[in-house]
Amino acid sequence: MNDMTPIDYQQSAYSMAAKTFLSRAPKLFIDNEWTASSHDATIGVEDPSSGREICRIVDASDRDVDRAVAAARTAFDDGRWTGLPPIRRERIINRLADLLEAHADEFAEIEAIDNGKPKGMAAAVDVPGAISQLRFMAGWASKLNGEVIQPYTMPTGAVFGYTLREPVGVAAQIVPWNFPLLMACLKIAPALAAGCTLVLKPAEQTPLTALRLADLVAEAGFPAGVINIITGYGHTAGDRMVKHPDVDKVAFTGSTEIGKLINRNATDTLKHVTLELGGKSPVVIMPDVDVAQVAPGAAGAIFFNSGQVCIAGSRLFAHRSIFDQVIEGVAATAPFWAPRPSLDPQAHAGPLVSKEQFDRVMGYIEAGKRDGASVAMGGDAPVADGYYVNPTVLVDVNPQMSVVREEIFGPVVVAQRFDDLDEVAKAANDTCFGLGAGVWTKDVAVMHKLAAKIKSGTVWGNCHAVIDAALPFGGFKESGIGREQGRQGIEAYLETKSVIIQL
Ligand code: ADP
Repeated sequence: MNDMTPIDYQQSAYSMAAKTFLSRAPKLFIDNEWTASSHDATIGVEDPSSGREICRIVDASDRDVDRAVAAARTAFDDGRWTGLPPIRRERIINRLADLLEAHADEFAEIEAIDNGKPKGMAAAVDVPGAISQLRFMAGWASKLNGEVIQPYTMPTGAVFGYTLREPVGVAAQIVPWNFPLLMACLKIAPALAAGCTLVLKPAEQTPLTALRLADLVAEAGFPAGVINIITGYGHTAGDRMVKHPDVDKVAFTGSTEIGKLINRNATDTLKHVTLELGGKSPVVIMPDVDVAQVAPGAAGAIFFNSGQVCIAGSRLFAHRSIFDQVIEGVAATAPFWAPRPSLDPQAHAGPLVSKEQFDRVMGYIEAGKRDGASVAMGGDAPVADGYYVNPTVLVDVNPQMSVVREEIFGPVVVAQRFDDLDEVAKAANDTCFGLGAGVWTKDVAVMHKLAAKIKSGTVWGNCHAVIDAALPFGGFKESGIGREQGRQGIEAYLETKSVIIQL
């Protein structure tokens, strides 16, 4: 924590496996084959640790999207996946998890190179998280039962009524750049377990682990056309996926702004839609805590993944009696969270994903300063070629400031004081978002009271951003529609059919 040696912002050399992967020609994965685009357009992919272009990917055309959707449609309609015995579907999904596990180190490196997150973090969080999503959902393939229902208005024995659970059809799945592999697996796992087929589009900034995952699809035993992975821009390829008449379901994770647009665009064809969107998650620290223990937790809540987390604890509320101590404790973590190149083994945080994101985050910091906020930590960016921003704490803020109201999606937290529980619950809810919230206290009653009062899809007690495949995840208010993970996660890919037979 107190290591003050200057940081070397030079990115390390890539492994041979990574170099070989990066030297491939841009291709799409459709019908279990690598296939060229119908046109020549490509998109450059950068290593945010150096700002250098490392490869190019296909900028999918309308025809490419149509081909991917057609492959998924055919694979769904002819029953080659849905019709398999559940045990086979379960085994194939688990086999994909096995293969991911066998290549874990390579996936962690590619994720680090592509996204900028430290390889150690990708290895500890992203890759195991992705595997866990697949394994948890694989088991659901064999547990999708309907029920026998006694009709309300008919005599017993007159009719036989029951429900069937059937897959919704072809899913278009669009994921963001902050946890590329994890988000991809979180999306495909429930769809596959339900018996859906799919087209997945990773974010244009971070397509690499999804493309590497495609290599494993046929090997795992998925029939052709069940999983199709295409690359391209959101407003072109993504938009076509969302509006495509042969797509039955859209699952999106990304910004609230694009989520609203996607929801509107999916309406004409009345697709099923789940949206996991932005957040401005409160972290509430009650006066009874041990500040020395809790301050690093509050710092981790915002600085993990350089704050590029939809559930980042970006609004810190510390009780007036301990506020200064909490800020000191958070500021003391600066060396630990100082951004470093993603392949530096000492890195706990990396650069932001892109120049665009860097400019956006620095713009917010400047806006905060202009509006009268004071910088208690960071507030600047180191001089380097990549997109590094120092972890930042802003104090002297008020609820009207853009840094308090808007999602920054960077390592920037705004800290405010409070005096009592009702006041802090009201302040925590003073936002259009409702994705996550953290409460730190030793008082069990206070914990439960705040868990009930705070309007968000998840409330963490004495921890933050703990995610588990079995626990439903999603947003209140403008943070989304529907739930992923858990039983609710698979429900989002199922239709319920009632069968009523006169006896
Ligand atoms: P961010 O603002 O964090 O970059 P976005 O919400 O713009 O996140 O992007 C998340 C994902 O949504 C990416 O895969 C992106 O390509 C895709 N996307 C962006 N715009 C659209 C759109 N109009 N229709 C469908 N997908 C889109």
